[in-house]
Amino acid sequence: MIVTDELKDKLTALAFDVTDNFCYGCYKVVEGDYCPGCHSDDFMRYLDGVGVEYGTDWVVERLIKEHCSAVDAEEQFEELLSETCETVKIGSLEYDPGYALRNIDPVAFRCGVSDMLADDEQFIEVDGEHYRACDIENMIEELS
Ligand SMILES: [Zn+2]
Repeated sequence: MIVTDELKDKLTALAFDVTDNFCYGCYKVVEGDYCPGCHSDDFMRYLDGVGVEYGTDWVVERLIKEHCSAVDAEEQFEELLSETCETVKIGSLEYDPGYALRNIDPVAFRCGVSDMLADDEQFIEVDGEHYRACDIENMIEELS
């Protein structure tokens, strides 16, 4: 998962927001900056109903999968072409540019899809699925 620093900071903050501190030594959720039992501040993250794990990446991935829908990249690229390119005319026939490229040159179409997805300010990959950065931004606003 590659995200811009700004988005990563927000997602990390959100992951802390929705989880509790968990002391592995005492095996319990604790409040505050130090465990009252052993004074450790080396906490795992505890997500209610899901589990407990070190770090926040797993929380972030879970939030994204739960609250955002993965994009159909080919569909998305076809729409993008249709919005930005001119209608393809062959004689008196007119074709939607996305549809045309997809059918006339599937290899070029797939390259275009890859290029589109490579823009990591727009799309974020989680477990082989792509999510729109703007959907993730919206999720952060809703859950914060
Ligand atoms: Zn403890």
